[in-house]
Amino acid sequence: MHVNPFDLATLVHDDGEDDAPHFDQVAALCAECAVAGLELEATLAEFEQVLDQIMPRGPGGPEVDDPDLRRRMLRIMVRALWRLLPNPQLQFATPEVPVPGRNDPCHCGSGHKYKACCQALERKLPPPIDHINLLPILLEALPRERWGELAGSRVGYDHLGDAVRRFAELEQWQEILDLLVPWFADDRALVMDNEWLLDMHVDALEGVGDLDGKARLLERAVERGDRPLRSAMLQRQASMAADQDRFDEAWGLFEKARRLDPRSPNLSHLEVVMLIAEGRESEARKRARFWVGRLERRRKPDLENLIDLLRDVARRGKDALFEADVGFAADDRQVRAALDSAPPVCCRYVLDVVDGNAGPLESRPELAEALQVWSERITQASWLPGDQIDPEDRVNELDDMLDLLEEYPVLWDSFEALETLQTAAGELLPVDPYDLSADRLGERAWSLLECVLEENKAQDALLEWGFVENRPALNALAKAVMGQFYSESQPDLLIERLECLLRLNPSDNQGLRSVLCRVLSVAGDYPRVVALCERYPDDLAELQYQHVLALFALDRKDEAAEVLRGAVEFHPKVFEYLDRSRVVAPQLMPGSVIAGGDDEAFIYRSDYREDWQRLGALKWARGVLG
Ligand SMILES: [Zn+2]
Repeated sequence: MHVNPFDLATLVHDDGEDDAPHFDQVAALCAECAVAGLELEATLAEFEQVLDQIMPRGPGGPEVDDPDLRRRMLRIMVRALWRLLPNPQLQFATPEVPVPGRNDPCHCGSGHKYKACCQALERKLPPPIDHINLLPILLEALPRERWGELAGSRVGYDHLGDAVRRFAELEQWQEILDLLVPWFADDRALVMDNEWLLDMHVDALEGVGDLDGKARLLERAVERGDRPLRSAMLQRQASMAADQDRFDEAWGLFEKARRLDPRSPNLSHLEVVMLIAEGRESEARKRARFWVGRLERRRKPDLENLIDLLRDVARRGKDALFEADVGFAADDRQVRAALDSAPPVCCRYVLDVVDGNAGPLESRPELAEALQVWSERITQASWLPGDQIDPEDRVNELDDMLDLLEEYPVLWDSFEALETLQTAAGELLPVDPYDLSADRLGERAWSLLECVLEENKAQDALLEWGFVENRPALNALAKAVMGQFYSESQPDLLIERLECLLRLNPSDNQGLRSVLCRVLSVAGDYPRVVALCERYPDDLAELQYQHVLALFALDRKDEAAEVLRGAVEFHPKVFEYLDRSRVVAPQLMPGSVIAGGDDEAFIYRSDYREDWQRLGALKWARGVLG
C-alpha cells in the first residue's frame, strides 16, 4: 500500500510503514529543536540537513525524485507540526505559524507566489490535524529538571490532562509527580480550576505509597484553597463519611461546604445521594425536584446531564441513581490497538447444511479450546445493563479479554468474543467518535459471517436462533446493525444487512423487523414496507400501522382501510395517541416496550405521526373510522 508521505493522519496510526517519514521521528526532532530554543526557520534549516535520511528518495521513500519537491514537502510537514507543538519559549503555548498571503512570496524561499507554489501542494494534503496532543513528545525531549517550568505556564489544560492521563494508564506515578509537584509548590495553584490536577496529584501520591504526603496535600487544600476548592474538598470528605455510615459528621461537612460555596452545582448530587444512602428516599426526591428548578434557572449547558439525572431521581427515586453511569470512563484506546493488530478474518466454524438449514455453528477444535478458556475467565456479568458493579471490575474484565485475545488470536474469529467485546466497547469513551471501536468490531462480525457462510457453502441456508450455538453470531450481527441504525449512515447497506438477518432467521427473535420497517419508512420505500408487513401479518402494532400507511401512500386505499380497521381493533391505543395533537409522555423503559402499553403507542406516534400528517393519512383514517 502506498502512503501519501504527508498524510499526517495516516502516519499517526501507522507504525510499520517504511515508505514515509515516521511521524514520531519528525515530531521528536521538532521537539528537540523547540527545547533547544530554536525558532521555526532555524528548525527548518536543521531538517534540511537530514532531508535524505528523513525523506529518502527511491525505494523505501516517497516516489519523488526531485530534491526540491521533497524539501518543500518536508517543510510543509514540519510547519504543520510546529503549530501543534507546545513551545517552551512561549510558556508552552502553541505558536502561530504565519501563512503568507496568496500573492505574497512563498515561505519556502522559491521566489514564486505562495498560491502558485506551496499552497497548491498543501491543498493536496488532508486538512490539518488539530486535535493531536504533542505535549508527551515534547516532554520526552525536555530534561526532567525543566518539567517544573510547566507549572502555571500557558500550557493547554487539555494537553496537560491528556499527558497526565497517559502516564496514569501506565502507572508512571513518578512522572506525574515530577510534572505536578511544582504546580502545588505554593498555594497559588489551590484553586477550583485546578481541582482535576489536584486529583491526579493525589492519585500519584497514593500510587507511590506516600499516604502522608497525600493527607498533607488534602489538608492544605481544605485550609488554604479558594472557597470553591475548599468546598469541593469538604464535599469529598462528606461523601466519604456517608459511605461509612457516619451521617452526623457527613451532614456537618456538607453544611460547611454549602456555606463556603452555595453555588456549587455538585452539592445537589451529594445531598440527594446522602439522603438516599440514609434511607430518606422521599426527601431525596423532593430535594432533587428543588435542585432541578434551581439549576435550570442558570441555563448552563454543562449542567444538563446533572439536571437530567436529578429529574430522574425526582421521578424514580433511588433506582435512577443506581442505573446511572457510576463513573466508568475508560477510553477505547486499548481496544483500538488490539483491533489494529488483529489477524485477518478466518473461518473456524463448521456448518452442516441439510435441506437449506445450516444447523448450529460448530467451533473447530482450536477455537473450541480457546472458547473454553474464554467462558471460564469472562463472565460478562459486569456488562449487563442496570447491574450495580464496581467500575474497576469492568476495567479488569476488559483487560482480561484483551489478554486472552492476545494469547489466543483465534478468538478474533469467534462471534462469542466479538459480541462481548462489542458490549464492552459500547461502554467506553470513544477516542474518535467518528470511528467507534464497537462499529469496527461489528464490521468484523459481518466479515466473519460472510467468510463462514462462504467456506461452508451455506450462503442461502438458514442460521436459526433455535440453536443456542447461533445466538452469539446473531447477537453480534444485530448489535452491528443497531450501531449503524443509530449513526444513520449507509442506509442501503443497513437495509441489506437487516434483510440478510431476517433471511437467516425468519422467526426474527430479535425484533429486527421493527428496525427494518423504520429504516424503509424513513427512506420512503413503501413497496418494501408493504412486502415486509405482509411477511409478518398480525404482528407488532408498528408493522400493522405502517402497513396501513404504506398502502395509503401507494394509493391502495381500499386495502389500507381494511388493514386500518384490523389495526385499530387489535391495537386501539396506538390510534388514540396518533390522533391527538398533544400527548403526555408515559414512563419509558430503555430497551423494552410493553405490547399494548402506553409506551408502545407513544413511541409509534413520535416516530411516525409526521408521516401520517404529511401524507394526509390521518385525516383519511378519521373518515374511515367515522
Ligand atoms: Zn513554496
